[in-house]
Parts: sequence; structure tokens; C-alpha cells
Amino acid sequence: KCTVIDGKIVFENVLNAVKKDVDAWVEQGNRRPCLTALTAGYDPSSMSYVKIKKKAAKFVGIHCDIVELTSGHNDDDIIRIIQRLNKSESVDGILVQLPLYPHNKELVVCDAVHHSKDVDGTSSSSMGNLCNNKDFFAPCTSLAVHYILDSIRGVDFCGKHAVVIGRSKHVGLPIAMLLHSSERKGDIRGFNMTTSIAHRHTPSKLLSELCESADVLVSAAGVPGLVKSDMVKAGAVVIDVGITKVEDPKTGKCLFKGDVDFAEVKKKAMYLTSVPGGVGPVTVGMLMKNVLKAAKLHATTRDVATPLDDQEQSDKS
Ligand code: NAD
Repeated sequence: KCTVIDGKIVFENVLNAVKKDVDAWVEQGNRRPCLTALTAGYDPSSMSYVKIKKKAAKFVGIHCDIVELTSGHNDDDIIRIIQRLNKSESVDGILVQLPLYPHNKELVVCDAVHHSKDVDGTSSSSMGNLCNNKDFFAPCTSLAVHYILDSIRGVDFCGKHAVVIGRSKHVGLPIAMLLHSSERKGDIRGFNMTTSIAHRHTPSKLLSELCESADVLVSAAGVPGLVKSDMVKAGAVVIDVGITKVEDPKTGKCLFKGDVDFAEVKKKAMYLTSVPGGVGPVTVGMLMKNVLKAAKLHATTRDVATPLDDQEQSDKS
């Protein structure tokens, strides 16, 4: 029988735990953790994701500022904003909500975030830290997949076969990094799985063969219906990361679809996540955890960007 993992319940549990930790942190006399999110104002999905994150931050007691970018912001303008946030002693985490405007170079912008504040782990230095097993910040979606797998009791993933569909730098690739790794990265342990990565150039026959042998199948392609039940091994753990907005042909209303044929795959998988209500909410929970982690890091380590000097402080006020 398949267990459908309810991401909303996981999300609530994570938020309650983070809230407790934030309360304790503030009671010890520390400043309330602070997240600043940069978002491209034109994109309604980005704006709604950022609002969901702000609401979660409010619940756990994290201060959250939103910087709404306009089409007039070029890369240098955004980098200047990020550099100020890097140096600000009152900001713990910086989130660049993707996508930005088409004229912005996302990696160039993400790379401007100092690794000690890169709470969504999108910069090259965070990716390097992830590859080298250093305990900084992994992208929140990969942490959400890791958290969901880690919460499954009684399954030993070591040596099992994992297939990740999708290789993007901020979603598919970091998920594969956490699944195959042998090392512990702070509070995150690698799963030691034999991990295959498939992408848009993987021939469909090979994709099916890989998936059929997967004990853990993670799909992050953004292609609704890509994972059919005949591709899934009986008893597999199937995590659906994909979210695609589609129009309901009957009602004309907007729906969110995952990559997995949920109804059919449910008949074969042992564990399965849904879309919506699966990995998405857990990702937001992981962001909150990361902001608190960043706040603690700033209070205890010198590995942070140089604070604003006096002149910059007075410019700011
Ligand atoms: P992307 O477009 O950057 O990458 C998609 C990846 O899928 C690419 O590597 C591509 O090669 C691969 N791919 C595309 N079609 C394929 C096919 N037919 N067969 C095999 N591989 C194929 O997208 P992304 O930013 O990595 O996001 C992937 C999906 O995850 C999207 O649906 C996105 O909305 C969703 N997402 C979910 C969360 C969450 O928290 N749940 C967070 C980020 C992204």
C-alpha cells in the first residue's frame, strides 16, 4: 500500500520546530533573524512564492523584507543591492527569487550573495561548498527532498539506486549531490545512493530503463505526466518536484501539475509525494531553517562579509 507523504503536515511540523528554536534564540538575548528576498515584480508566480515565504517567516518569528526589482534594474544595480545586504549586520539571509527579468544574468546575480548569507544555496561558492562537503547552505528544494527521504523510517537507502530527472544547477543537480554523497555536511548526511541523472537529452527508452530500476525516483523536469506508472519499480519511493501551471481544459481554471502520473503511480510506489502539497511547502520550511542557521552562524563565526563602515552606515540611515 502506498503512503502519500503530506508535505503540508511536514511543513507545519518544520515551522513549529523552527518557531520554537527562534523563540529560544531571541530569549537568549539575540537579535531576531532577518531574511531579505529580492524578487522580479513582473512575475506573479515569483511574487506569490515570496509572499508565502514572508507569511511563513512571520509565523516562525523571522523578520522578512522584500525588495521588488523592476525591469530598470540591470545586473550591476542588483549586485550593488546585494553587496549592501552582504555587509549589513542586521541581515542574516539573502534570497534571490528566480526567475529574474530576462535581461538579468541569474548566476552573476546569485554569485554576488556572500556564502554565509546564501540561504537558498544558489551561488557558485555554495555549490562548491556542497560538492566539498562543507557545511554551508544547500538549495532549499534539495534539502526538502533530503528531509522527506530522511523522515521515512525503516528504509536503508545506502547503496540503493536513485534516479534524478533534471540536472538544473539549483534543483536537479544539488538533489543528486545529496543523494549520492557519503559525507555528513553538518546536520545533513549523504545517502550513499548510486545516483543516475537524466535530462532532456536522455533517450526515452534509457530514461524508462533507468527509472524502472530506481529504488528512489526524484523527478524535477517540469514536464507534466513524464513519469508513468510502467516506468516505476514496485515499492519505489517517488518524489515529485516538478510544478507546472496548466489550464484545466474543462473549467479554464489554472492548475498545478507535477511530473508524475499521481493516480497510476500510487498503485505501484511505496511512498509518493503529491503536487501541489508535496515538496513545495517543505522547501519553504527548509528556507526558514536556513535563515535561523545563518543567524546563528553570524553570531558565532567571523566568516561573514565585512560589516558596513561608518560612512556606509550613515548612508543607509
Ligand atoms: P529547469 O527548466 O531549469 O530544468 C529542467 C530539467 O529537466 C533540465 O535539466 C532538463 O534537461 C530536464 N528535462 C526537461 N525535459 C525532460 C524530459 N522530457 N526528460 C528528462 N529530463 C528533462 O527547471 P528547474 O528550475 O530545475 O525546475 C524543475 C521543476 O521543478 C519545475 O517544474 C519547477 O517548477 C519545479 N520546482 C519546484 C520547486 C519546489 O520547491 N517544489 C522548486 C524549484 C523548482
